[in-house]
Amino acid sequence: MELILRDTLNHGQKYVHAAGEYTYEANGTNRTIIPYSPDWKRIMLQTSGGLDSSLLLYLTARTFKELGLKTEIVPFSVEVPNKVKNLESARAVIETVREAVGYDFISKGVEVIMPESEMMPPKKNQFFNSTVMQFIENEGIDFEFNGNTKNPPLSARSHFPHDYSRELTRDHRTTIYNATISACPHAMNDKSGIVFLYKKFGLIESLAPLTLSCDINLDKMKRKGWGFPCGNCWWCHERAWGFASNNIDDPSLREN
Ligand SMILES: [Zn+2]
Repeated sequence: MELILRDTLNHGQKYVHAAGEYTYEANGTNRTIIPYSPDWKRIMLQTSGGLDSSLLLYLTARTFKELGLKTEIVPFSVEVPNKVKNLESARAVIETVREAVGYDFISKGVEVIMPESEMMPPKKNQFFNSTVMQFIENEGIDFEFNGNTKNPPLSARSHFPHDYSRELTRDHRTTIYNATISACPHAMNDKSGIVFLYKKFGLIESLAPLTLSCDINLDKMKRKGWGFPCGNCWWCHERAWGFASNNIDDPSLREN
């Protein structure tokens, strides 16, 4: 079955290899849309250990379970040598989601360590994209999900550091689909809506504390004498705004 997607740019139609969509309404116009198909045997879901992809894993497993599907979800994680190690977070997230949802078809997942020779742009993106493409082709993957969200509104992010170098394509999107077999289900949901859904599904105390959002470079962190999370990068500001706009304290920043 294929879902017909109207392309608002050229008024044509594109075909997405999905049978339907399940929508999770958040605050305001924010929403997460999970595509599904009984024909999918395996999907890969980019699982970084961050707030967004962890919620995406939860909502995807929940949707598939509710629909009685048996689609295998393969979490796919990449560790970048000049960033704080995220694989441990990703593993804890996978385990927690598996238990919380009780969906039997989340596999152990795949971990890729990026070689140091590839970690600087533009090689970094090339390595990442080609690794994902190879995995889709070689491992019989029917569809790919990643956790990219919408950027916060300008009024919220105007004081974020280096906001000019944010991912501009995330400012406003009209579709969650990137290609016939690829989607960003959170493309029309920003961090405020993400935290809203954490609260709605009772995940603030269980899942949120396991996640990391800080994307600071390790050398810069050392040079500036910052701790982790740094509290200073664009991603730390975005996370803080997501929690503050829901009047919730970020449980990962709590002193124990
Ligand atoms: Zn940070």
